[in-house]
Amino acid sequence: MFEIRLGDVIDDHCIKCRRITNHSVVSIVNGAAAKVRCRTCYHDHDYRHEQAPPTKKELKKQELFREVLATLSPGAAEAEEPPADPAPAESTAEQPQESPAPEPPKRRTRAQKS
Ligand SMILES: [Zn+2]
Repeated sequence: MFEIRLGDVIDDHCIKCRRITNHSVVSIVNGAAAKVRCRTCYHDHDYRHEQAPPTKKELKKQELFREVLATLSPGAAEAEEPPADPAPAESTAEQPQESPAPEPPKRRTRAQKS
């Protein structure tokens, strides 16, 4: 396995030069370059694995994206599914309910006239 050592020259993106340039390794953490120095402008910075840092425009976009997400779902990841439709309270409106007023018992004994 390739082991990096102090002083090794590796490629990385320099924010000052705004391009990939040769860098000298000036700091190593866990066997990987942690800090490098641009061989062109001698600017020290964290090793970026040749990745250009996000531009301000991209940062702004991410910020907006997060704001929109926060607006859309304040509950965050917990409520991924939309809440179930609450049962309409008056769902039986069309159906005839049980006779609201029970008919009075018609058990009057009619006086039968004979
Ligand atoms: Zn540079």
